[in-house]
Amino acid sequence: MQIAIASGKGGTGKTTIATGLAYALSSNHNVCFKDCDVEAPNGHIFLKPLIDKKKEAVIQIPHIDVNKCSACGKCVNVCQFHALAQIGSSIMVFPQLCHGCGSCTWNCPENAIVEKPNTIGILESGCTGGGIQFSHGVLTISEPMSTPVIRQLKRWQKPVEDVITFLDAPPGASCSVVETLRGSDFVILVTEPTPFGIHDLRQMAGIIQDMRIKAGVIINRAKEEYAPLQEYCLKAKLPILMQIPFSREIAAGIAQGRLLTSIKPEYERLFSNMFDEIISSVSQRE
Ligand code: SF4
Ligand code: SF4
Repeated sequence: MQIAIASGKGGTGKTTIATGLAYALSSNHNVCFKDCDVEAPNGHIFLKPLIDKKKEAVIQIPHIDVNKCSACGKCVNVCQFHALAQIGSSIMVFPQLCHGCGSCTWNCPENAIVEKPNTIGILESGCTGGGIQFSHGVLTISEPMSTPVIRQLKRWQKPVEDVITFLDAPPGASCSVVETLRGSDFVILVTEPTPFGIHDLRQMAGIIQDMRIKAGVIINRAKEEYAPLQEYCLKAKLPILMQIPFSREIAAGIAQGRLLTSIKPEYERLFSNMFDEIISSVSQRE
């Protein structure tokens, strides 16, 4: 089973919930945690794994053999990412726009394209003291594309069937989030009871609807009843799985890198109950 934890908005406490949930379930299940927020991974701060494996995240960048190229322009036309341009009889490659999809090489009639690996990040994995299989990706600074790193992280050390995999998604509602959510059985959307929270939740709800994935909402830092959010969730048929009240004690503990379940041990049981609800919701769909 694969559960993604996402939030349209950054800073909602997504990683706090993802790591706390993974820890709570690890006492009774085999748990795998993949931190897909490759531009700013921080799950390791809370789960404290012992990293013992590393692998480069690489994409294949085209190089044009000028002796073979007939300047037909096919490669430029097939590239959806505008990573190639034709100037006169020369083909220019813009490596930072290239997604390494291979379409240009595949479509070149002269076999004039050679692919060369370009390292754009690193994947690291290890195990936590509690037995959680942990991995994360780290995008190289100045590299613009996180999606290939996320894709490779998800494929790397693919968990076996009886493992619950938690995917900590990047913030926002871009293609890197879609790549993280792809293949998930359920998405936990973490939001805040504010107008910004609703705005970004609405964007995420649209994505999840398009991807046909079941989802539920956790309202974090809930100070008091915020009717517009409750009304929106009802209208969008998004069940509210949990509300975590605003608490200085939680905020101070998180700032020290502590798990939510260590700051407030009652969340072990609450997360476990919530997981049962998720299982029941997923099996209803099937
Ligand atoms: S590999 Fe794909 S993205 Fe890169 S230049 Fe070729 S067609 Fe464009
Ligand atoms: S498709 Fe091949 S031959 Fe045509 S312009 Fe591109 S590299 Fe040159």
